Amino acid sequence: MTGAIEADGIKAGYMSSHFTRAALCAAAALAVVACSVVPAEGELAAFEQWARTAPVGAFEQYLATSNLEGVIPARQLLRTASDWRRCGGPRFEIPPRDRWVDVARVLTLVAELKSRKILGGFESVSNFRNTELNACAGGAQNSAHTIVFAIDIVPHGGIIDETLLCDFWRAHGKAWDMGLGKYPSGRLHLDTVGYRSWGHDGREGSSPCR
Ligand SMILES: [Zn+2]
Repeated sequence: MTGAIEADGIKAGYMSSHFTRAALCAAAALAVVACSVVPAEGELAAFEQWARTAPVGAFEQYLATSNLEGVIPARQLLRTASDWRRCGGPRFEIPPRDRWVDVARVLTLVAELKSRKILGGFESVSNFRNTELNACAGGAQNSAHTIVFAIDIVPHGGIIDETLLCDFWRAHGKAWDMGLGKYPSGRLHLDTVGYRSWGHDGREGSSPCR
């Protein structure tokens, strides 16, 4: 195994069908810079203007058919990177159509965590990022945010019961292919591209679930 893969907590012998995909996303935990700034105010008007020409309706309809409408409001779910302005990138972006199934997987996981009251109030602040924006924003070259789909969330009040979250990750994370990261800023990363966890330095050893 390479250092990068170990850093993301993917174990040797990880299911081969998932290995390549997971390895591609291995360094997502290092995307610290992309996760450092809370979005500015004025976002609602900007979103509404953008949504007039973007296929937000089709995206929302897809999620609605999976009973995932409203798990995370579209305005949050379609945020790119906090550094979008500095990078000259889009503030909002709809993932490519072939990733919508991955969006649905993450939202299904989020819905499960909410139903178990493991996740309470939170904001999703950084999600799908195109390659150019991801690079500018300091995301890893093969970040899950770009290759597949991932969300970075900020718990309301900065508080989340990591004991409950880690208990779920240990008991069910493998079945969900659940990636769980915690950035130095306190933001949490969630994806469904491989069972692994990491903490402030992007390595498994600093995971809150250790
Ligand atoms: Zn992330």
